[in-house]
Amino acid sequence: MSIFDKFRGVEQRLAELQAAGGRNPFSVVIERPISSTVGLIEGRETLLFGTNNYLGLSQSPRAIEAAIETVRARGVGTTGSRIANGTQSLHEQLEARIANYFGQKHCMVFSTGYQANLGMISTLAGKGDYLLLDADSHASIYDASRLGHAQVIRFRHNDPEDLRKRLNRIKDEPGAKLVVVEGIYSMTGNVVPMKEMAEVKRETGATLLVDEAHSFGVLGPTGRGVAEAAGVEKDVDFIVGTFSKSVGTVGGYCVSNHPELDLVRLHCRPYMFTASLPPEVIAATMAGLDEMKAHPELRTRLMDNAVRFHAGLNRIGLKTGKQVSPVVGVVLETIPEAIMLWNRLLTLGLYVNLSLPPATPDHHPLLRCSVMATHTPEQIDRAVEIFREALESLPADA
Ligand code: PMP
Repeated sequence: MSIFDKFRGVEQRLAELQAAGGRNPFSVVIERPISSTVGLIEGRETLLFGTNNYLGLSQSPRAIEAAIETVRARGVGTTGSRIANGTQSLHEQLEARIANYFGQKHCMVFSTGYQANLGMISTLAGKGDYLLLDADSHASIYDASRLGHAQVIRFRHNDPEDLRKRLNRIKDEPGAKLVVVEGIYSMTGNVVPMKEMAEVKRETGATLLVDEAHSFGVLGPTGRGVAEAAGVEKDVDFIVGTFSKSVGTVGGYCVSNHPELDLVRLHCRPYMFTASLPPEVIAATMAGLDEMKAHPELRTRLMDNAVRFHAGLNRIGLKTGKQVSPVVGVVLETIPEAIMLWNRLLTLGLYVNLSLPPATPDHHPLLRCSVMATHTPEQIDRAVEIFREALESLPADA
């Protein structure tokens, strides 16, 4: 038996995907971003509708300038972890800025959003504790449950009543109970019913952590996310998020009013045993945060675009999630249909994400799209038109 035998199934599946559509969907290369909304793919200018770059800030001139200035002054990396030589004054400044943005007392900055979830959840919920997870949770949340060894109890997606029932069943057990929800779910664009989730938390005394990865900079009067939008920030114990989407850079964070967050630093392996963020990334992140604060109209434009894109797709007969958010999951019936459509879209100049079961909720293939504040109405309409053309060109039995 070879150590590689376990990969053969995936290898075969990949070959089938490639045979069905002509491309390996996991090897698309953006040769060069031309702007926040257009990239060069296969030598063609392609509309980007799958980059999570909700506010277009990866191309912010202010962030680019800040990164250049900082890299010249400080070099390109820290070469160490936060608890060794990897904490520079910039890391502390960024933590203070994020805490201030959220109006919370404490903040930890991680090297990625994945590590923020992995670290926070595995450190808070250990052996003997209970981790209550939404069935559609992100991989980083599931991976955290393995690292921390808490007992996992899954509740039905976005169902506070099911959560309440499951928490009541374990109410006399001695272990701590940590509930984890996401602001906007990354595949479907569903928004968590945050008010109701907060009510369950208050009633049961559980600890509540919200991953605002896709909702930071997107929801709430000041872009703090779903907890702000629902007016329940005081009920949330830990807010986790990432800089890799609306802020346009890379890195993760956790904010909290619990002073124990500073003790987490000394127990949290994905924080302790990895190199810290490079200085230029921090400078670009702080500039991105300034842009987010200074331009609330970006969020309004983003939501207007989301409404326009949803309506356009529905008009041409495509099924999307019920809730309108910048994450748009186009639901398809069969895998061959999804593969062919995704390939046609790319050939016609539109890039979206192909998401296949078992990685999708309800085992439906999805064409996952993300809308941006910097898309023009013409680009939104053109994307819908490309969807229409691609659908028309599919064989009738697809
Ligand atoms: N949480 C969710 C819900 C996500 O979708 C992602 C990224 N896809 C992450 C966390 C991890 O973020 P990062 O890319 O910064 O590691």
